[in-house]
Parts: sequence; structure tokens; C-alpha cells
Amino acid sequence: MPMSVADALDRVVYLRDRALAESRRIQAYVKARELVLELGEEEIARRHEEGTLQDLPGIGPSTAKVIALALDGGIDEFLADLDAETAIPVGEGAALRAALKGDCHSHTTWSDGGAPVEVMARTAMALGHEYLVVTDHSPRLTIAHGLNRARLLAQLEEIERVRELVAPFRILTGIEVDILEDGALDQDDDLLEQLDIVVASVHSKLSMPAPEMTRRMVMAVASPHVDILGHCTGRKVVGSGRAQSKFDPDIVFAACARFDTAVEINCRPERQDPPEELLALALDWDCRLSIDTDAHAPGQLEWQVYGCDKAAKMDIEPERIVNTMAADDLIAWAGSHPTE
Ligand SMILES: [Zn+2]
Ligand SMILES: [Zn+2]
Repeated sequence: MPMSVADALDRVVYLRDRALAESRRIQAYVKARELVLELGEEEIARRHEEGTLQDLPGIGPSTAKVIALALDGGIDEFLADLDAETAIPVGEGAALRAALKGDCHSHTTWSDGGAPVEVMARTAMALGHEYLVVTDHSPRLTIAHGLNRARLLAQLEEIERVRELVAPFRILTGIEVDILEDGALDQDDDLLEQLDIVVASVHSKLSMPAPEMTRRMVMAVASPHVDILGHCTGRKVVGSGRAQSKFDPDIVFAACARFDTAVEINCRPERQDPPEELLALALDWDCRLSIDTDAHAPGQLEWQVYGCDKAAKMDIEPERIVNTMAADDLIAWAGSHPTE
């Protein structure tokens, strides 16, 4: 059976996402796929024969080329080349990557992710995981369409439904909750309590003075609801970049150790957070770690390799990494933080 046009476009999206292609360019394939599904493959084939594909809104030379290859033959070779071109080489972190049983930080179309819960879950499964923690943004992050109480509850219902479709693969509930300027968490306590995993991150006022930022982060880390401190410095290392937030890392990591909150090794190529010297300090403080992709699209779930390579290079033991735990052990750990 030849590949359908929609599946071919979907595969291009996946492969370009893992190469961190510009999202505007990826969106062209996403939109083209939606159009194909809307019009039907027969209508698309008819237009291809007539030579009027590019008269359709949103179909340009690149998307038309993929459609033509899918219809006329040649798509397999095209995708194989793109696969090779975008493949993420597995380095010294290979053994560690194999030991990871899940990913604790991922986004879906509920907030600013590019794919629904089920697609993200199936991709994580295909990558060999036993579970995926869905951690969409909290309400104050309006730019990312963060989930208010009602939408989070609705998402939990959807996760409940999708769980049955993907079992025995597990979808764990979670949130990437904003650490507000005063250190409070941007979601109701009873909901945070109910979720399997809570990642807490700073997304606003990243350049506040160090003493305030330290207090802000410690407040969050000390919450018994918080399991993982997300991308702790907020830096961006690609393009124009963004400087690290300033805080006293000894105090923050001491708090992480004290309250058994894991420090995230964020695998996003443009974040690579924390930088190695801070990661070394977290190790000195005996912190637990979590190697997470912060994926906003299915292809980005492959990025764990980057964090694993970094951890292997630094001789970090797998026992220290929370997502080497099986799902039930991870959930039990998350429910057992000391409160003082
Ligand atoms: Zn996001
Ligand atoms: Zn974040």
C-alpha cells in the first residue's frame, strides 16, 4: 500500500520538527495536511493531474512537491533522505537513553503544542517509552494558551479516554505550572495535588534581581506539589538567545535536595538548560534529576538523546534520574516530598 498524501505530509512534519526547523515552515505542511484531509485524497489527486494544486490556499512549491511524490511515487526515497538528514545521532548517552522509561515534560494542542494527547502518547510509545507525562502550561501563560481550571479538568477527562486507546502504555497527568513573581504557583492547590507530576518553571520577569529570583524559586521548590524544577536558568542559546536568570544556585539546589524536587535537564536544543557548571553544582548538592524533552511536537520527543549524552559525559548515575523509574514508582515518589 502506498503511503497516503496526509501520512506523507505528517511524516515530513515529524522529521522537520526533530530538526528544530522554523515553525512557520513546518506549519505549512501541517496546514497542507489539514487541507488534504478536508478535501479528500481523490480531489487532491484530481487537482494534481490538472496541475492546479498550487491554486489552493496554503499549497506552495514545497508542499506540492511532497503531494506529487506521494501520488506519483518517489515519496519513500524522499522521506528516507529527510530521515537521514534529520537523524539525531546517539552518542555516549545511548545506555542511559535506553534506561529512561518515560518523559516528564511535554505539551499538546491543549496549550501551545502541535499535536493532540493521543499522537504525543503514540509517538512516545514508538520511541520505546512506558509512559508520557502531559504537562501543558498554566493559565497566566496566556501567550501559550495556558489551561485554566475548567480546561485542565476537561483535559483530564480526555486523558482518561485516550488512556484506554493506548494501554498498556501509560499517560500520566501533569502540568508545567508557572512560578509567579512572588513564588506562588499558578494553579489551584487541589488540582496540583491531584496531578501525577508537577513541573514548575519561571516564564516571566526572568531578569529580576538575584535575591528575589532565589526566593521565588525556593518558594516553588519547597511546595510539596512540585516534583521537578523546569529549565532553571531560562536561557536560550540559539539565535539571538537569552541570558540566564540570576539566582543563588547553592540556595536553590540545596532547597531542591531538601524537598526532594528534581532538577530538570531540559533537552530542547535552544535551551540546553542547566548549563554544565550548574548541573555539576546540582550534583554536588545531591539533587535528583529528570531528563525531559519539553516537546511541543511529536518529533521533538526524540530530543532526550541530547540530555542523555550530557548526563553520560558527566558520569551521572541512572539512579539519580527520576524518569528511569517505572510509572508507579515515579508517582509514589512524586507523592512523598517532605513538607518541611
Ligand atoms: Zn510551551
Ligand atoms: Zn517552560
